[in-house]
Amino acid sequence: MATKRKPPGDASPFLPERFSLPKLREAAKSCHGCDLYIAATQTVFGEGSSNARVVFVGEQPGDSEDVQGRPFVGPAGRIFDEALTKAGLERKQTYVTNAVKHFSFEPRGKARLHKRPRVGEVRACSPWLRAELDVIKPDVLVLLGAVAAQAVWGAQFRVSQERGVVKPGELAEAIIATHHPSAVLRAPDSEARKRIFKELVADLRAVKKLLQD
Ligand code: SF4
Repeated sequence: MATKRKPPGDASPFLPERFSLPKLREAAKSCHGCDLYIAATQTVFGEGSSNARVVFVGEQPGDSEDVQGRPFVGPAGRIFDEALTKAGLERKQTYVTNAVKHFSFEPRGKARLHKRPRVGEVRACSPWLRAELDVIKPDVLVLLGAVAAQAVWGAQFRVSQERGVVKPGELAEAIIATHHPSAVLRAPDSEARKRIFKELVADLRAVKKLLQD
């Protein structure tokens, strides 16, 4: 007889009573809100200042982030830094996090291949993101890629059609979605790579302008 799988809970029971970034980061180390913690090395919490005016939300940690315990430090992180620099933004003035705090992957021999987190895993992890935003209260929230955008705006949201559009929201005065930097790496050819990178930089320039207004 097939064993019934326990329905996933969420991260809520693991949140501390009072929110601050150090307390949240510490508490998230023991989160078992979904099954992703089982195979991952560690929780990869957000990084940056609680006074940041802009928060960037990616999808989930990648292989390098899982090992180092820090967000956006792998190949996609390097693209992100390059795009930030081109747009005139500095990473140290921002807060960077992910919609899902544990690495979701498929083992393939010695390699661990990125696996898009399930909708239930994104939902389970959302209390951490909400708590980070509750502490920081950013002016601008930037959603990098479909998983982050859909976590906030629902499954119908299409980055390809709606990226770069600034919308107001309860999580920040201005919310904007753009490409995840890894989309540059996954592009099928150099033409597509250049186009996606250019669009990412253009959207980050719009973020800079929002911060200046
Ligand atoms: S992915 Fe999020 S909800 Fe799931 S165990 Fe990790 S921190 Fe908790």
